[in-house]
Amino acid sequence: MKLHTKILLGLALGAAAGVAVNMAAADAGWLAWINRNVTGPVGQVFLRLLFMVVMPLVFATLSLGVAGLGDLRNVGRVGAKTLGYFLITTALAAALGLLLVNAVRPGDGLPGETVERLQGIYAGQAEERLASSGAAGFGIDTFVNIVPRNPIRSAADMDMLGVIFFSIVFGIALAMIPAERSAPMLRWLEALADTVTKMIDLAMRFAPYGVFALIFVVTSTFGWGLLRQLALYIAVVLVGLLIHATVTLSVIVRVFAGLNPIRFWSKIREVVITAFSTSSSNATLPTTLLVAERTLRIPPRIGGFVLPLGATMNMNGTALFEGVTVLFVAQVFGVDMPITKQAIVVVLSVLTAVGAAGVPGGSIPLLMVMATSVGVPGEGIAIILGVDRILDMSRTVLNVAGDLTAACVVARSEGAWDPADAEDAARVEAFPDEPLDEAPAAYRPGRRP
Ligand code: ASP
Repeated sequence: MKLHTKILLGLALGAAAGVAVNMAAADAGWLAWINRNVTGPVGQVFLRLLFMVVMPLVFATLSLGVAGLGDLRNVGRVGAKTLGYFLITTALAAALGLLLVNAVRPGDGLPGETVERLQGIYAGQAEERLASSGAAGFGIDTFVNIVPRNPIRSAADMDMLGVIFFSIVFGIALAMIPAERSAPMLRWLEALADTVTKMIDLAMRFAPYGVFALIFVVTSTFGWGLLRQLALYIAVVLVGLLIHATVTLSVIVRVFAGLNPIRFWSKIREVVITAFSTSSSNATLPTTLLVAERTLRIPPRIGGFVLPLGATMNMNGTALFEGVTVLFVAQVFGVDMPITKQAIVVVLSVLTAVGAAGVPGGSIPLLMVMATSVGVPGEGIAIILGVDRILDMSRTVLNVAGDLTAACVVARSEGAWDPADAEDAARVEAFPDEPLDEAPAAYRPGRRP
C-alpha cells in the first residue's frame, strides 16, 4: 500500500474510532488512560519528529534559497512579490469571512444561557492562554523582536520569525562573499538540507500511526454536543474556508500558475492531511517543502524561500477565521460593527494572521487582543474555545495550501517554473515506498535552470 493511502487510512480510522468511543464511553476512565498513555504519547512523538527538524530545515533551505537567488535585487524582487501575494490573499480571505458572517449573522440567535455556560467553562482557559502568550503586548515591539538578539535563542524558543530573519540575512551575505569562500558553506548547508530531508522521510514512515493517534485523541475527547450549539458559526467558518479553497485559491492556481486546480489539490494531499491532523503550519512545513519539490517540482530556491516564510506569515485560513469570530462575538454581545470598523477588522485580521505562530491554536491570543481593540469583549472569545480544535485543523489546511499556491505563482512569475514541470511529475509520490537513493533534496542553488 502506498504511504499516502496508509496516512489517509490512519486519518479515517482514527476519526471513526474516536467518534465511536466518544459516543460509547466519553467519560470512561479507560479512555482517559489510553489517551494519556498510548494515543497521546504516540501523537506527540510524531509531532515532535516533525518539529525537531523544523529549525535546521528552515535555516538550511531559506539561506540556500536566498543565496540561490543571487544578488540582493533578486531577493528584493522575489521577497516583494511573495509578501504582496501573502497580504492580498490573506485580505481576500478575511473579507470573504466578513461577507459571510454579515449575511448569515450566526451570533444573533445564540441563547443567553448558552453564552453564559460556555463562558463559565472556558473563560479561565482564555485568560490563561492570553497571559502565557505575551500577546497582550502586541505592538511595535512585536516587530522589533523579529530581529533576533541571539539566533540560537530564537531557534531554541521556536521563534520562527527570528530564525527566518537571521537565515535571510545569512543567505544574502553568503551570496556577497567571493565564490571560493562561500563554496564550503554552501556545500555544508546542502548536506544539512539533505540530511534533515532524509529525517523527514523517516518521520513520515511513522505518519499513519501518528495521524491515527492525533485524530483519535481529538475526536474521542471532543465535546460533540458543543458543535450543535455553535453549529451556525462553525458552518460559516467551514463554508468560508471551503469557498476560499475551491474558488479563490483554485482560481489563482488556474490563472496565475496555469495549473489545473484538481491536479494541484491531488498533488498536495499529503500536506493537506498533515496540516489537518497536526493543526500546525510549522509542523507541516517539512512535508510542504518536500511536496513542493517532489510533486509540484518547484525549484528549491523559490520553494526554500517562499514556504518557510509562508508557514509563519501567510495564514489565509486564520485570517478568515479571525474575521468571522470577531464579528460573531460582536453579534452575540450586541456590539455595533459599522462598515468602517469592519474594514479595520480586515486589516487587523491580516496583521494578526501574519503575527500568529504556526502552532495549534497559535492565533487565539492575538485574536483576543484584536477583538478588544475594536471594542468587542476579548474574553468573549471564550465561547468558541471548546470547538476551536476542529476549526484549527481546517484553517491550518488553508494556511499551508496558501503557501503552496504562493510558491507556484511566484515561481512562475520568475520564469523559474512551468506548470508542465508539475505535470511531468504526475506519477511521482512525495514519499515513495522505495526510499530515494540519491540525496533527495535539490536545494542546490543554480542546480536547475
Ligand atoms: N494552527 C494555525 C497554524 O498553524 C494557526 C492558528 O490559526 O491558530 O497555521
